[in-house]
Amino acid sequence: MSAFFKLLARNRMALGGLVVMGLVVVLALITPLLPLIDPDVTNTADRFQPPFSPGHLLGTDQLGRDLLSRLLWGTRLSLAVGFAAALFAAVAGAAVGIIAGFYGGRTDNVIMRGVDMLMAFPYILLALAIVAALGPGLVNALIAVSVVNIPFFARNIRGITVGLAHKEFVDAAKLAGMSNARIILSEILPNVIPVIVIAMSTTIGWMILETAGLSFLGLGSQPPQADLGSMLGEARSALITNPYTSVIPGIMILIIVMSINLLGDGVRDALDPRLKSGALSRPMAATRVDRKDKPAARTQTDGLLSLENLHTQFHVKNRVYKAVSGVSLSVKPGECLGVIGESGSGKSVTALSIMGLVASPPGVITGGAARLEGRDMIGAPYPELRSLRGRRVAYIFQDPLATLHPLYKVGDQLIEAISCHCAISKSDGRAKAIDLLRSVRIPNAEERIDSYPHEMSGGMRQRVGIAMALANDPDVIIADEPTTALDVTVQAQILSLLNDLRRERGLAIIFITHDFGVVAQLCDRVAVMYAGRIVETGPTMAVLDAPAHPYTARLIACVPELGAGKRKLEAIPGLPPSVDDLPMGCAFAPRCLRAQEACRQGEIALAGEDARAVRCLFPETTLAEETA
Ligand code: ADP
Ligand code: MG
Repeated sequence: MSAFFKLLARNRMALGGLVVMGLVVVLALITPLLPLIDPDVTNTADRFQPPFSPGHLLGTDQLGRDLLSRLLWGTRLSLAVGFAAALFAAVAGAAVGIIAGFYGGRTDNVIMRGVDMLMAFPYILLALAIVAALGPGLVNALIAVSVVNIPFFARNIRGITVGLAHKEFVDAAKLAGMSNARIILSEILPNVIPVIVIAMSTTIGWMILETAGLSFLGLGSQPPQADLGSMLGEARSALITNPYTSVIPGIMILIIVMSINLLGDGVRDALDPRLKSGALSRPMAATRVDRKDKPAARTQTDGLLSLENLHTQFHVKNRVYKAVSGVSLSVKPGECLGVIGESGSGKSVTALSIMGLVASPPGVITGGAARLEGRDMIGAPYPELRSLRGRRVAYIFQDPLATLHPLYKVGDQLIEAISCHCAISKSDGRAKAIDLLRSVRIPNAEERIDSYPHEMSGGMRQRVGIAMALANDPDVIIADEPTTALDVTVQAQILSLLNDLRRERGLAIIFITHDFGVVAQLCDRVAVMYAGRIVETGPTMAVLDAPAHPYTARLIACVPELGAGKRKLEAIPGLPPSVDDLPMGCAFAPRCLRAQEACRQGEIALAGEDARAVRCLFPETTLAEETA
C-alpha cells in the first residue's frame, strides 16, 4: 500500500489532483460545521449582489441566496451523488461482468446482449428516458447515471474474467472441489479489483458531469436544493447580466472533474502491475547517467568501439542490481568479438548501455565510458545519440518477430530505417531496400519486400533484421543472441552471412551468445562474462584450447562435440548469483571446484598480458606458460 502511494506521489500531476481533490472533499465534509448562511433562505432585496459584497463573499443569486453557502452545499451534494453513482455502477457492472465471464455459454450470451442493448442508446438519452420514467429527482438521477454506466464496467470486467476463468489456478480450485461462488470470491475477485478501481477512478469525473447535466436540465436536484448542475441551470437566465452566478459553479465543476481525472490517471498508472517494478516509467529517451568521476576526455583508443570499465546498475526501490560491473572491451574494424556467458550474466545490458538503450528508470550507468573512435557516447546529448543509433552502431536482436512491426510490410520498415538518417525518395528507398534484402541473401527480394513479417519464416525474419541493421552502413553491429531462436541449419547460414558481411564491409561485430560452438565459428576474440564482469578474455582459439578460468572451462565442457565419441556433458552445478547481492571476491567461487579461501576474500583483478587475461587466483592453465 505504501508502495502504491510512493508511485502515485512520483507523478506530479496526479499528486496535484490528489491535493486539490482532497481539499474539495474536506471542504464538502466540513460544510455543515462552517458558519454559513442557510443556502435556501431567499431574500429578494439582496438579489444579484456581486462577489465580495458585505456578508456575501461570493455574492448572491437571483433569489438573494448566498452563493458561497449554495456552492459548498451543492459541491457536497454533487460529490456524494457522483461517488455513489460510480460505486453502484462499479458494483453492479462488476457483478454482471464476473458472472457472464465466469459461467460463459448461454449465461454470457443473455447477459451481454442485454448489456449491448443498453449500450445501443446514446448515453444521455438513455439517462433522460430513465429519469422521465421514474420522475425527476436527485435519487432518480443517481439511478439513471448508475444504470447508464453499468455496461462500461460489465464489458471491462467480463473481458478480464474470461481471461482468468481458464487459468490454471482456477482449474486447480475447481479440482479442489471449491464451489463456484467461492472460486469467484477467492480466486477471481481479487484479480479484478484493481481493474474495477482503475475503471472507477477514470469514470467518476464523467458521472459527476452527467449528474450535473441532468440537474442542469431540471431533472436532478429539485429547488430549492442546490447541486452544481442545478446552480448552473438556474443561473442560465442571468448569464449575460450577472455572469458570476454561472462562472462560480462552473469553475467548481471544472476543478473537481480535472482533479479527479488527473488523480484517476495516476491511480491507473500506479496500480498497473506492469509499471510496478519500473516505477511510473515512461522510459527516458536515453539511459540515465550518474557517474561519480568522469573518464578522461580523450584517451588514445586502439579500437573502433571500446568500453572502459563500464558500470550499469538497476535501482529498483532500495535494491541495487549490479548488472554490469566494470566491463572493458574493444573491437577493431572487420573484427568480431564474442561475448559469452550464461543468461543473466549482463551481456545484453552491456550491449544496450553502449547506445544508452537500457530502460531508465530503473537503469543507471554509474561509471565508465563507451567510446566510438575515441568519442565518449555515455552521457552524450540525446540528438547526438539518436544520430548514431542505427547509423554508426546498429543492433540485431534475438527475436525478429518481436522487433519487426507486425502491421507494416518489411520493405516499408527497411525504407523507414534508411529515411531516419538520410532523406531519400520513395523509389530510391525501395531500390535500396531490395538491395539490402539481396545482400542478406533473401531470394526473390523484389517480391519479398512486400511481405509482412508473419509471412516469413524465422530465418527470413532474422535476415530482415540484419538487413535493417545494415541499412545505414554502420561501422559496428551488436548482435544480441541473433541465432538463439533459430534452428541449427538456419543458424549456420546466418553466421556465415554475418561473417561474409564483416569481411566485405569491414564491419566490427560484437556477437553476444551463450554458445561456445557459435563463438568458435565466427569470433576472432572472445570475452567470457560472469555476474556482470569479464572473467576471461583472449583470442578464440587460445581460449578454446586452454581455458584458464574454471568457469570458461566448464562452459566449454557443456558443449557437445560431434564425432568425438561418447563424453559426459558436465552441467555446471548451482545457479549464477543474484546481482543485487554479489558475494565478496570471486562471484563464481560458490560453484567452483578449485575455489579456496583466498577466492572469497577480496577483489580479484583481471590479470594477463596483451589480449589474453583471466580473473582467477588459481587458473586452470597459467597464461605465461601457454603463451611461451
Ligand atoms: P543476459 O546476459 O542474459 O543478456 P542481462 O544483461 O539481460 O543478461 O541481465 C543482466 C542482469 O541484470 C540480470 O541478472 C538481471 O536480473 C538484471 N536485470 C536486467 N534488467 C533488469 C531490470 N529491469 N531490473 C532489475 N534487474 C534487471
Ligand atoms: Mg540477453
